[in-house]
Amino acid sequence: MISIKEWKWEKVKPKDKKEETLCCPYCNVKVRATSDTRIFDVDTGAIKYQIFKCPECYMPITIGLDGIIIPPSQFLPFEDIQHLPVKIEKMYRECRKSFSSTCYYSVIMVARTMIMHIAADLGATSNLKFVEYIDYLENEGYISRHNRTWVDKIRKLGNQYIHELDEATEEEAKLAIVFIKHLLINVYELPQMAQ
Ligand SMILES: [Zn+2]
Repeated sequence: MISIKEWKWEKVKPKDKKEETLCCPYCNVKVRATSDTRIFDVDTGAIKYQIFKCPECYMPITIGLDGIIIPPSQFLPFEDIQHLPVKIEKMYRECRKSFSSTCYYSVIMVARTMIMHIAADLGATSNLKFVEYIDYLENEGYISRHNRTWVDKIRKLGNQYIHELDEATEEEAKLAIVFIKHLLINVYELPQMAQ
């Protein structure tokens, strides 16, 4: 016999209302939201999802058993940077989107690709090895010797994942994106602002 699973939606009774402090994915404000509706399995009575109402923007926020907030934040993490070439801007957005989707391996890979594109945009010849693009940026003064340790770490991280396909951590992805952010500000934003 085929068992048909049925889930039902119900209004939460005042005494069963849950409260959560969260960052609203729609308005980006840290709020104390109250559950308004829940979805439960008719057979077992188990609660599958709680639906909260954001007190700031009134949008529905869903939280499942795993505690993950649905939808993910509609705001990109890390700051916008002005005066970026179109291709670089697109890659930077992809990096930030990957970070908010917790695709940390992608963040590191896109960050590495960006370093090569930035170097090429600044006049490096094509078909260089990754480390040679970094050397170019350092020799031309875009990366200071002080930051070299940082870049080397990103280089090693990338190599490690290419070979081991290991899981990249949030910390590592953050390191890569913060470095890229500073490089973009130095290379594209600050010189334009000074003009
Ligand atoms: Zn909101």
